[in-house]
Amino acid sequence: MTSDRGAGRYAPTPSGDLHIGNLRTAVAAWLAAAATDRGFAVRVDDLDEERCDEETATRQLEDLAALGVRSDREVVYQSRRGEAYRAAAERLAARGLVYECYCSRREIREAQSAPHATPGRYPGTCRNLSESQRRERRARLKDQGRAPALRLRAQAPSWRIEDRARGSVERPLDDIVLRRGGQQPGWAYHLAVVVDDAYSGVDQVVRGADLLDVSPTQAYLASLLGLPEPSYAHVSLVLDENGERLAKRSGAPSARDLAEEGWGPGELLAAIGRSLGRPGAGSLDELAETFDPSELADPPVRWPADFVA
Ligand code: GLU
Repeated sequence: MTSDRGAGRYAPTPSGDLHIGNLRTAVAAWLAAAATDRGFAVRVDDLDEERCDEETATRQLEDLAALGVRSDREVVYQSRRGEAYRAAAERLAARGLVYECYCSRREIREAQSAPHATPGRYPGTCRNLSESQRRERRARLKDQGRAPALRLRAQAPSWRIEDRARGSVERPLDDIVLRRGGQQPGWAYHLAVVVDDAYSGVDQVVRGADLLDVSPTQAYLASLLGLPEPSYAHVSLVLDENGERLAKRSGAPSARDLAEEGWGPGELLAAIGRSLGRPGAGSLDELAETFDPSELADPPVRWPADFVA
């Protein structure tokens, strides 16, 4: 289901109501798409069944729609896309780019703290096992009621993207998990995002700077799958009054909290416009006229100071 025109997108995880920082990123993504004559996709990143629920997803879609941020194509729910992820993993596997990993989290942690290991990277324990070693480890996991994970056999030490807001960003590649193992196996975030962006015709990714570091990995995965690499722009996250990243936990208001305080959608949009350096704009279309996401790298903005006059 792709359309000719490329698209931007916003892809929240339905684990709680969107707060003002999330809404700002969503509006920025929508404006960047509109300013470049693209369509727009909203996706529900609900792979994590324990944290996500459909009711929250519906509330998020309503809150976005109230601001005018709507999908002009099918809203994709990642929890329903297992077959597409399987097909993508099989394409990689057919080229020898996937291997089973039998490590527990603890085993990985221990191997990562060995003298020559790189902290935070998969130590490669299962990368080059023989077939008989695999059989034996697979059987052992099965007895424990656990499935192996699937990992990508990365072929390059690092990968680079050109980010419209941050410039050239190169990061080391890791043998990332494509499918989590254990007692509740499931498809992993990077594979899902890459497959779904391509499925929805997304060729422009504007999202929060917290995801900057994973973008080279996702672009690499897209290249292995023969999918087009989207253009990226990672915009600054909103900070609270203490200079900490705004979070629901530390009291960031949601659209609904603000509505209870008497904010209508127009006021909310005007506040977001102000935080985007466009005070006085009355509508999304007006904001889109001169919008450029590369202006949003820095400095970070603060809630409420940079939103409210
Ligand atoms: N669902 C992810 C999140 O809420 C974002 C995914 C993405 O933008 O690629 O953090």
